[in-house]
Amino acid sequence: MEIARWQDVIKVFGIKSFFENTTFSAFLFLTLFLYNIIMYSKQQTIILQEQTKEWLESNNPKKLDKNNIEELRNILRFHEQRYYVENDSLISDYEYDKLYKVLENYEKQHTDLITKDSPTQRVGVGLIKDFPKTQHLVPMLSLENSYDELDLLDWDRKVKELSGLSEIEYSIEPKFDGASISLVYENDLLLRGVTRGDGEIGDDITPNIFQIKSIPLSAEFSKHNIHQIEIRGEILINKENFKKYNEGLIEEGVPPLANPRNAAAGSLRIKDTSIVRKRNLEGFLYHVSFISKIKENIQEETKTHSSLLKLLWDLGFRSPQKELKVVSGIQAVINEVNNFEKQRDSLPYEIDGMVIKVNSIDLQEKLGMTSHHPRWAIAFKFKARQASSKLMSVEFQVGRTGAVTPVAKIQPVSVGGVTVSSISIHNEEYIKEKNLKLGDSILIERSGDVIPQIVQSLTATRNGSEKEIIFPIECPVCKQPLSKSDDEAVWRCVNINCNAQILERIIHFASKDAMDIKNLGDAGIKKFFQKGLLIDIPSIYEFDFNALKEIEGLGDKSISNLKEAIQKSKHQPMHRLIYALGIRFVGETTAKTLAQHIESIFDLQKMNEEELMKLEDVGVKVAKSVQAFFQNKDNLSMLKKLEHLGVQIEGKKQEKSFGNLKGQTFLFTGTLSSIKRSDAEEMVESQGGIILGGVSSKLNYLITGEDAGSKLEKARKIPSIKILSEEDFKKLLLN
Ligand SMILES: [Zn+2]
Repeated sequence: MEIARWQDVIKVFGIKSFFENTTFSAFLFLTLFLYNIIMYSKQQTIILQEQTKEWLESNNPKKLDKNNIEELRNILRFHEQRYYVENDSLISDYEYDKLYKVLENYEKQHTDLITKDSPTQRVGVGLIKDFPKTQHLVPMLSLENSYDELDLLDWDRKVKELSGLSEIEYSIEPKFDGASISLVYENDLLLRGVTRGDGEIGDDITPNIFQIKSIPLSAEFSKHNIHQIEIRGEILINKENFKKYNEGLIEEGVPPLANPRNAAAGSLRIKDTSIVRKRNLEGFLYHVSFISKIKENIQEETKTHSSLLKLLWDLGFRSPQKELKVVSGIQAVINEVNNFEKQRDSLPYEIDGMVIKVNSIDLQEKLGMTSHHPRWAIAFKFKARQASSKLMSVEFQVGRTGAVTPVAKIQPVSVGGVTVSSISIHNEEYIKEKNLKLGDSILIERSGDVIPQIVQSLTATRNGSEKEIIFPIECPVCKQPLSKSDDEAVWRCVNINCNAQILERIIHFASKDAMDIKNLGDAGIKKFFQKGLLIDIPSIYEFDFNALKEIEGLGDKSISNLKEAIQKSKHQPMHRLIYALGIRFVGETTAKTLAQHIESIFDLQKMNEEELMKLEDVGVKVAKSVQAFFQNKDNLSMLKKLEHLGVQIEGKKQEKSFGNLKGQTFLFTGTLSSIKRSDAEEMVESQGGIILGGVSSKLNYLITGEDAGSKLEKARKIPSIKILSEEDFKKLLLN
């Protein structure tokens, strides 16, 4: 099949190509160009900031009506671009949310005034039934790959030959490692977003694209004489969010993903838009593949690739404006590519190479394409972070919660500059899913600072000598039988006195994010444990330093350092102690939440599941786990022992004994619009009020947010309860 070219499509649409009449002199005229990296001009920024102030005025904020609704929307769009595209917020999240709520509430009452590109329309789309197949306006061809300087020199030679020019102006931009998409805007509105698919036809994923805040829902293309435009780009998850996402998976017992690319591609196909929103996807737009104009003319901004990207940037898109380089000649390209590869790890997102394009659109057209690739662009691939190796053996490690994790020992191989010799293969299901056998050739990948993962088993290379991986039925350390619950993929050693678990618990307790006992690292703890100098967590504080001197031959200086570090750790804040205990599902964030609500570690023993679940981000799983921990006698006697040995178990809870609301009881129900519930509860507590868990005659105030339900019904039946709106509540706090 003949692959449609840009020019053909333009002809089909009956529009005269805007490349015609452009000459090489125009192209040569556009040499190195210094871009001004500002989306909104200084003047616009000042005006929008002034307007923002008026809307946020604490005494007399601007009132929203149908005449100024677009002003508020523009303010919100401006701050979204500052935050998501330029990474430079001018207002706090709280202030943004406040303005957003004003618009949202107004639109709820005046549904006829809602526009398709209102900032509120990013949310609340709900569940998607399916993703309809859609044809791209111009096929999305893949790029030819190059791997070294010689490939680039060869490509440059061909470009020069075909064009008859002696030197070419090139643009260079990062090759993002995400999921490719194309967006179509018509009459300034985002019409649809489509996955790459087979290059001709992709899936229409518009509702999910709406969740990505760096992609504008509307842009003023018409001001630039553009009626319809197709833009190509990549959806990514940045390294930090990817790491968080994988940590969440591991905590749930689900194997993590090998790379951010899989995470982004998978996220785009989720049918619940609220989950997509939580993934914090980002959109980079780097190519204009089609334009239909309102009236025929020649425009400077559509003459080069770099000026098109500048146009996108100016209209609020996250085009690689800061990353883009425009240079003359292939030697300058090679220099830039090498520079970029050095910076690769310092970028917030994964890139796997660079894309080099002929900058002149006119010249791009003249060069055209082969049946597979455009001739005017090439991808330069960085050194692979994938490598093949061989699965030699599997060891089974017992963690502090008893979980048995298989770890593959592989033939050592260098991946992106790091030698990998062992790699976690998570659990039995993972082994099945990846179809792993001993002796298999495997492909591994290391993405950024994420731990290496197995991409796949190269089963085609098997010769019949490969062996099944047999999971043990007993603990490799204490030899007790392993058990597995129905809702988990993990086998566990349930012997609480298992040496492997005790050792791992001590290591966790002393670790950097927990009690941070410097000079007591993993290796030291293992050695001391083997020699019987450490037997459990409290034994850290009963350390026999004399024995240490005799057995280990450690010097006085090392010993006094260790002594000091152990002594210092006794005064770590409460949340570190809670985290250090290694309670299942209690990460650092949850530990902080718990610490804020107690005075002594033993307060956690008194809290029931319901009370625990009232705390922010504490769900059933966490509440059950905390309760189980504090009902265990061994754990309690360990805590008593720690207290006895001088470890600080008291924390600072918000002062309750004074304040306006002293002794008054409060309960919140429904969604508050201008303040987070946890913050509101904290305000109550800071003024001496008490938060209750349910409606009863003991309750003084019920504060009702949006969609208040059964609690409100119930409270109405008890005359002594005062029912307050959010506004009334704020007034009460101020009095
Ligand atoms: Zn065991």
